[in-house]
Amino acid sequence: NEAHANIAGAATTKKLMTFDYDLFVIGGGSGGVRSARLAAKLGVRTAIAEEYKFGGTCVVRGCVPKKLFVYASEFGRAIDDASGYGWTVEGKRFDWKALVAAKDKEIERLSGLYSGGVEAAGGTVFNSRAEVVGPHTVRLLAENRTVTAERILIATGGHPFLPDIPGIEHAITSNEAFHLEELPKKVVIVGGGYIAVEFAGIFNGLGVDVELVYRGGEILRGFDHDMREGLTSIMRQHGVTITCNTEPAAIEKTDAGLIVATNRDTRIACDSVMFATGRRPNTVGLGLQSLGVKCGWNGRVMVNDSYQSSVPSIYAVGDVTDRVNLTPVAIRDGVAFIEAVYKNNPNPVDLAFLPTAVFSQPEIGTVGYTEEAAREMFCAVDIYKAAFRPMKNTLAGRPERTIMKLVVDADSDRVIGVHILGPDAAEIIQALAIAVKMGATKADFDNTIALHPTMAEELVTMR
Ligand code: FAD
Ligand code: NDP
Repeated sequence: NEAHANIAGAATTKKLMTFDYDLFVIGGGSGGVRSARLAAKLGVRTAIAEEYKFGGTCVVRGCVPKKLFVYASEFGRAIDDASGYGWTVEGKRFDWKALVAAKDKEIERLSGLYSGGVEAAGGTVFNSRAEVVGPHTVRLLAENRTVTAERILIATGGHPFLPDIPGIEHAITSNEAFHLEELPKKVVIVGGGYIAVEFAGIFNGLGVDVELVYRGGEILRGFDHDMREGLTSIMRQHGVTITCNTEPAAIEKTDAGLIVATNRDTRIACDSVMFATGRRPNTVGLGLQSLGVKCGWNGRVMVNDSYQSSVPSIYAVGDVTDRVNLTPVAIRDGVAFIEAVYKNNPNPVDLAFLPTAVFSQPEIGTVGYTEEAAREMFCAVDIYKAAFRPMKNTLAGRPERTIMKLVVDADSDRVIGVHILGPDAAEIIQALAIAVKMGATKADFDNTIALHPTMAEELVTMR
């Protein structure tokens, strides 16, 4: 295999003379950094360019700062709950600027680890935007020069999509939400997906008046209906206004703030509007189209099972391929790219039974088929469901109920879906996903002895 010639053999010498690098990675996020680090460790002459901060979306403006904000937003209710357990906490106050500063410090630390990791493995790091100007040539804009590489890996991720409505320039996205000068009093969040729901919880927990405006009938399309309904109900109990079947038609700026005019002739006054209406791959201006790299309708790079695009020397991993846009998938893509290209072991990432979570309050953790999808795909489906008030909520005086659901293929007895709405759902699902991926049956669940008293014991006691 030609790929192998990179690492050993006479061909290496020839390539050393031909290209500046064996591999040039564009984008220092989850997928790019993992690929670059693994390649460099193998002795592949690797360089990576990042135009903003190493770590990419996940570390800089995604998973990590989001989860830190989620933690921050949970303390208020936790302090309230503590009174049910005998605690008196006086002088409860929250300092937004202190949170942002602490978060920024942690992100800087992590970002340094990401670029440092590539360098420690022997790779070369460029702090520059990079564009593809030939099948083997990359332009580094900050350095105003070109470099050549046998292979180019596109790992440029994505950016927030904003619909084209009047006044959209007044809206923010999750990117800006991480750096607001001060917390708004009222925020309108547009969208009903992961980001909209997670930020609704964050702002609500921090004391902001939140109205979530969603074009569909129920938030979190694609998730199990019981989880969507259960979360909607709890978010409303927490004071989030959820307005469905509604789309913003325009945003107007007034002296008093902003007005969101909707397609239902309503007008919502607020001082911040955040759009969480999906993301698009970062391929515009990258030079791919002029080289003939085949891209999908939204600009995503189309790749084969070896992550190779229609131009043989150009590859892509992660969100820029717009398949399942999650950090662990981008990382696994990077690993699979290295395996395919430098170890002759093509083995694309298996996306079946992929666990995922919405870091809402409480969380939704899910793996496998929803009840609705299972009923369409399987001849007979058994559903086991438990809805209960977790013990911690009793003394806290919190009415919120946890929902757990098992979806079972009746013919094989295999558990093909697990869905949890409740505290620590993400942590529980991560562990349970191993069993589900391995093909555990309902009988296997039943044979497992409960761990008492926990919430998760319900998963092995549902009959
Ligand atoms: P990215 O991480 O986006 O990295 C791409 C990098 O390329 C960026 O650093 C960018 O600056 C750089 N770049 C782009 N163009 C160029 C260029 N021309 N030259 C040089 N550099 C360039 N996923 C989860 O699994 N769990 C979560 O909880 C989660 N939360 C999220 C919360 C938010 C608010 C967002 C927006 C996303 C979240 N995600 C989460 C998704 C996750 O962040 C992405 O799936 C992941 O970061 C994709 O990794 P990537 O390497 O493909 O791209
Ligand atoms: P999502 O695709 O999850 O949700 C987008 C939402 O915006 C949907 O509710 C969609 O409605 C709505 N929408 C799309 N276009 C419009 C429009 N023109 N007008 C009004 N509403 C619109 O994207 P997000 O932006 O929330 O997040 C991007 C991705 O990042 C996620 O899909 C996920 O892959 C990743 N992510 C993962 C997280 C995690 O793992 N916890 C957290 C945050 C992000 P409809 O449902 O009708 O299509």
